[in-house]
Amino acid sequence: MPELPEVETVRSTLAPALAGRRLDRVDILDTRLVRPFEPLAVAGELEGERIDAVERRGKYLIFRFESGRSLLIHLRMTGSLRHAPGGSLADDAHRRAVVRLDDGSDVAYRDVRRFGTWLLLEPGELEPYFAKRLGAEPLDHGFTAKRLGERLAGRRAPIKAALLDQRTLAGMGNIYADEALWRARIHPLRPAGALAPDEVNRVHAGVRQALKAGIARQGATLRDYATPDGRRGRMQLEFKAYGRGGEPCERCGTPIERTRVAGRGTWYCPHCQRLP
Ligand SMILES: [Zn+2]
Repeated sequence: MPELPEVETVRSTLAPALAGRRLDRVDILDTRLVRPFEPLAVAGELEGERIDAVERRGKYLIFRFESGRSLLIHLRMTGSLRHAPGGSLADDAHRRAVVRLDDGSDVAYRDVRRFGTWLLLEPGELEPYFAKRLGAEPLDHGFTAKRLGERLAGRRAPIKAALLDQRTLAGMGNIYADEALWRARIHPLRPAGALAPDEVNRVHAGVRQALKAGIARQGATLRDYATPDGRRGRMQLEFKAYGRGGEPCERCGTPIERTRVAGRGTWYCPHCQRLP
């Protein structure tokens, strides 16, 4: 559920508080979080590491350590992180890990569905890990409409499915794909490779606008997502298409419709986003 704007909000909230801090104590309370590795072994490896930077790539959160190692955190469906003074967080049956930092504060990881993962990578392993799995960062300067067009060329999959493919673009998910295509006025079932250049330009702009809107509102809280200081995101209050079935399109007044694309609930305006 957390997509690029949610993970970026987590990153930007944690980064100033965690940079330079050492992991004094690590408790991993759920074997699923680090499998196939042993929680005690992973915790032992993490203890003593000092955080150099907190970064993001796609939907992954990265704790970069001074040693050159990295801890890769993927929140998947329902993962979230809280940062608070040590011992100040209430008991939580869904807490899966706690890290005590050298300033006495805690970083607690909560995950109801337990699909989230923590993976410790050795120096040099991070870039190859991402190279196999992730395409361009949609908010990078180097990500142009031309590059998006190259990624979509020849693909018969619906444009929405192409946007959900992390190797096309890193960080898009079901919410922001619908929001991007509404902005682009492109039907989610259009074959990705059949878009005209001006339509690719619109998708490119729509993706960036939707993601920036999400970041500006600190993400969307539908169920579990919260910022590391415990606040809700506000993007859900400003969705243009996602989850708005039957409500009027903000541009034309036509009721938003729901369909399924790539197995995912998909919302669009049948007037603004037409199939040719
Ligand atoms: Zn419309």
